[in-house]
Amino acid sequence: MHKTALVLFSGGQDSTTCLAQALSVYDRVETIAFDYRQRHRVELDARLHVLEELKRQFPHWAQRLGEDHCLDLAVLGDVSETSLTREMAFQMEANGLPNTFVPGRNLLFLTLAGSLAYRRGLEVIVTGVCETDFSGYPDCRDDTMKAMQLALSLGMDRRFLIETPLMWLDKAATWRLAESLGGAALVDLIIEHTHTCYLGDRQHRHAWGYGCGSCPACELRLRGWQQYRQARLV
Ligand code: ZN
Repeated sequence: MHKTALVLFSGGQDSTTCLAQALSVYDRVETIAFDYRQRHRVELDARLHVLEELKRQFPHWAQRLGEDHCLDLAVLGDVSETSLTREMAFQMEANGLPNTFVPGRNLLFLTLAGSLAYRRGLEVIVTGVCETDFSGYPDCRDDTMKAMQLALSLGMDRRFLIETPLMWLDKAATWRLAESLGGAALVDLIIEHTHTCYLGDRQHRHAWGYGCGSCPACELRLRGWQQYRQARLV
């Protein structure tokens, strides 16, 4: 039985739900994020607020929440031209991938998470990747995760488990999962403190949280929220 976990925690809705899930299961949970010179630093700021609020509002989770790690990955901006790291408009490319795609980003994240987990003695690596809500990122696929689990376990000679609690959930189900883990308080925390908007908008507050309301990330979050709320009313 696994007891310790490292959660890839960006400060968005998905990774916050994954963190809550890990905190409800494992005795010791640490968090990791990557600063790859995102166009907007609001997500990196948001994650610190989320951690503070989780500790303040959920004391039984606070006892389990260990160190937070933020690794500098500026090099990622040097090797990729995407709308997440450069000032350019979001669009679909000819290969069917959105230009927010950073090639190999999750592979790099998981490899570094594996290195850190090894050093910190953490057994499970938790990531909020998901195949259900289409984003077209090949490094979010279930097969990719299974391959990474094997590669890390062989390459570091330690049995790692890569856990993906959101892999087959849509965004409405992700809201439901948050509610089942931490009730209305966790749903409110996610609305108020997590950040998803690609444009880094923290000016406009909607029922589902802050954001521009029209970028692909906001649209996905809005749609999931509407489905979640409608299902609750029925
Ligand atoms: Zn947005």
